[in-house]
This record gives sequence, structure tokens and C-alpha cells, in this order.
Amino acid sequence: MSERVVEIEGLKKSFGPLDVLKGIDLQVDRGQVVCIIGPSGSGKSTLLRCVNLLEEPTGGKITVLGTELTDPDVDIDKARTKIGMVFQGFNLFLHLNVLNNLTVAQRKVLKRSEKEADEVGRHNLERVGLSDKVGAMPAQLSGGQQQRVAIARALSMDPEVMLFDEPTSALDPELVGDVLGVMRQLADEGMTMLVVTHEMQFAREVADKVIFMDGGYIVEEGSPAEVIGNPQEERTREFLARVL
Ligand code: ADP
Ligand code: MG
Repeated sequence: MSERVVEIEGLKKSFGPLDVLKGIDLQVDRGQVVCIIGPSGSGKSTLLRCVNLLEEPTGGKITVLGTELTDPDVDIDKARTKIGMVFQGFNLFLHLNVLNNLTVAQRKVLKRSEKEADEVGRHNLERVGLSDKVGAMPAQLSGGQQQRVAIARALSMDPEVMLFDEPTSALDPELVGDVLGVMRQLADEGMTMLVVTHEMQFAREVADKVIFMDGGYIVEEGSPAEVIGNPQEERTREFLARVL
């Protein structure tokens, strides 16, 4: 039987009078890749940010790995260590070299020794194909390399689920492929992933499930063949006609 990693029930989020998420139900099982697509402003980032409580939900319930994050008594820092997040901007620590970017949270949050954190960091740099950049400063790297370092940093915390928010949207087109390649490899290794993306080819090939969001609702969900290949809703068709 498949294990539920993320369970979202009736999630609502408002910013003042603005209702951004209007009742989202979403499940991600272990090893699944779920891609979220939809127009700008539809609430995709807000949804992802709610999953690790960077935004506090206004209503509904979020359970990750059996821990209800929306329970007021939850140890959110502990729950968060199992959830890796990669943003559109690379958010590296600019004053730290690549290896130190990968070790600082391991040491502070997971209390790993310098030696262990270094080993884990080097291993994850290898996974993203950047072993040779271990001593480089972020400013010396291309955007695509910086994003791969950001992925390696998230992986160094041994997450059980990875959240990606448009990880390739800020990259020059020729650098997108390397980052998607690393994400594809992670998916092949069985990582559970929730990915907001405009890369329809990636969604088609890698996603187990595609979610189309618009106006704070999930309008349509299903396999890539269903949602991208044969959309049933007019809003999905309009969106796809613009991005494909
Ligand atoms: P998407 O990622 O799909 O483009 P977002 O989740 O970023 O959409 O934003 C959805 C809506 O919520 C937008 O109208 C945005 O302006 C609004 N919004 C997002 N974050 C905030 C915030 N911190 N305060 C106020 N409004 C916000
Ligand atoms: Mg967004």
C-alpha cells in the first residue's frame, strides 16, 4: 500500500480581504511527483508555502508524514527538516562558499559534526554534478549551477519530500535543462516531489499527477496524459494554449 506523505484537506488562505486559496484538497504519496500548473496569481506559490508553513493557513488541515502541521502544538521546526524547498531565486548564502552553503544548516539544525556535514555535502554536490565547485563562491557560478547547489543544499538535510517553486523560471533558457535533469534524476531515485512549473515537457514526462489551479481552486487534476494531453475544462485548455 502506498504511504501518504502530504495530505491537504480544505486548505484556505486569505491575505486580509483577498481570498487566495479557496479550499484545496491534495494528496501526495511516497515516491510520487505531482506537478502544479496554472496562471500567474492562481495561488500556486501560496499553496506550496503553506505546505511548510511559510504561510499560515486560514483554514483547513495539512498533514505531512503523519504530523498535522496545522495543529497549534506541533513542533514546526522539527517537521520542517523533513521538507526541502527550492525557490525560483536561488537564495544561497552569498558570503559562504558552496560547501559551507551545504553544511551550515546540517550543523545548526541537525547538529551534525563538521566532518559528517562535509561528507553529506560533498555527496550531494556529486549528485547534482558539481563536485568541482566545492570551494567556489555563489557569485562565480551560473544561475543553473546556483540552483543545483540550492537543490544539493536541500538534499543535505535528508528531506522526505521536496517542494520546488518554479525552479527554472529565473534561468537563461540554455541552463534550464541541467536543472530539470537533476530533478528528473531525483524523481527516478524515488524522491517525493511537489513541483510548481511551467515546463510542460517535464510535467508530461516526469509527473505522476498534474494539478491545474486557477483562482484559488484546483480546476482539474489527473495524469499528464489527461490534464495536459486531453484537458476537460475550458480554463485548462485556455491556459495550455498560451504556454504550449
Ligand atoms: P502564483 O504563484 O500562482 O503566481 P501566488 O500564490 O504567488 O500565485 O499569489 C496568489 C495571489 O496572492 C496573488 O494575487 C498575490 O498577489 C497574492 N499574495 C501572495 N502573497 C501575498 C502576501 N504575502 N500578501 C498579500 N497578497 C499576497
Ligand atoms: Mg508563484
